[in-house]
Amino acid sequence: MGTLRILSGMRPTGKLHLGHYTGALENWVEQQNLLDENGSRVYETCFLIADYHNLTTSLDTGEIYTHTIDMLIDWLAAGVDPEKSPVFRQSQVKEHAELFLIFSMLITSSRLERNPTLKEQVRDLNMESLVYGHLGYPVLQAADILLYKGNVVPVGEDQIPHVEITREIARKFNNHYSHPVVGEVFPEPEPKITKFSRLVGLDGKAKMSKSLGNTIFLSDTPDEVQKKMRNAVTDTQKIRKNDPGRPEICTVFSYHEKFTGGEDLACIEAGCRSGSLGCVDCKKLCAENISKELAPLIEKRRYYETNLDLVKNILIEGENKAREIAGHTMQEVRSAMQLGETSFSRNY
Ligand code: SF4
Repeated sequence: MGTLRILSGMRPTGKLHLGHYTGALENWVEQQNLLDENGSRVYETCFLIADYHNLTTSLDTGEIYTHTIDMLIDWLAAGVDPEKSPVFRQSQVKEHAELFLIFSMLITSSRLERNPTLKEQVRDLNMESLVYGHLGYPVLQAADILLYKGNVVPVGEDQIPHVEITREIARKFNNHYSHPVVGEVFPEPEPKITKFSRLVGLDGKAKMSKSLGNTIFLSDTPDEVQKKMRNAVTDTQKIRKNDPGRPEICTVFSYHEKFTGGEDLACIEAGCRSGSLGCVDCKKLCAENISKELAPLIEKRRYYETNLDLVKNILIEGENKAREIAGHTMQEVRSAMQLGETSFSRNY
C-alpha cells in the first residue's frame, strides 16, 4: 500500500482557541510528523480552509480573508509545516465545485435528509429551514476528500455518518465509471476514530465556542488567560477556600488534566478534595500552565504577524500544489466519464 493520505479542514472563523488546539490541531501536527520504522512519513497530510462550507450557515463574507489569515497563522504557530502539508482555500481550487456538482448526481436528497449529524445541527441551531447547499454539505465534503484521494479520514464518533456518505459516493462513482488506465478512480476512505480531546468552555458549557464567549484563544497573553480564568466555573459547593471540592465536576480541573502533568495533577486533586487548596490559587496555577504551553505558539504567531507576506506566499504555494493534485484527479474523472472526449467511435 502507498502512503496514506489525510485531508482535514476547518472553516475560517478567525483566531483559534484551546478547543481547536486540543480537538484538532494537536492531532494534525502529530499525523503530519508521524514516521514509520524506516523513517518515512506514515501520512501525507493536506489541510483545507473550508471557506465554501462557511456559506452553508452564513452569507456574510466581509471578514473571510482576515479570518483566513488569522486562522492560518494559528495553524502555522501550532506546528503545521507547509513544506509537508499544503494549506489551501477550497474556493481557490475550482475543482472542488466541479466534483461537488458531479457527486450531487450520485446521491438522493432523501439520503442526505436522513443524515443524523444534519438533524442534530438543525435542532441545536434552531434552524427552521435549510439552504440547498447546507443539505448537500456532506457531498461537498466528499468532494474535498476524494479530490485528493484521501484514504483515511480522522473523525470523532459523530462524524462517521459523513464518512459513510463519502464512501457511498466513491463506490457509486467507481461502479458506474471506470478509467481506461487506472480503473477505479476513487479510494473508499476509511474512518480513523480519533480520540479528540474536547475542552469544555470557561462557563462550564459543553464546548468552547467563540460565539458563546467562553474561550481562551491561542493568542491570549498570560494576563488575559489569568483574567479569563478568574471567571471560570468551578464546583459551586466549594464556596470558602477550605471547603472540600469535587474536581470531577470542575471546569478548571478539566483544564489541569490537559495542561498540568503527573504528580502536580495528583496534588491538585488531593488538595481540592481535602480543602487545603483554594480555587483562587488553583486557577492561578492552571492559567500559568496554559500560558506555558501557549508561549511558543505566541512567539511563532508574532513572527508570522510581522511577516505577513510569508503567510500569503505559503497560501499561494499550497493552493498551487492543491490545484496540481486536484487537476490530475479531475482529468481522471472526466476521462472515466468520457466528458470532453474529442475522438469518436462513430462518424460524428
Ligand atoms: S480547587 Fe481547583 S479543582 Fe477544586 S473546585 Fe476549586 S478550581 Fe476546581
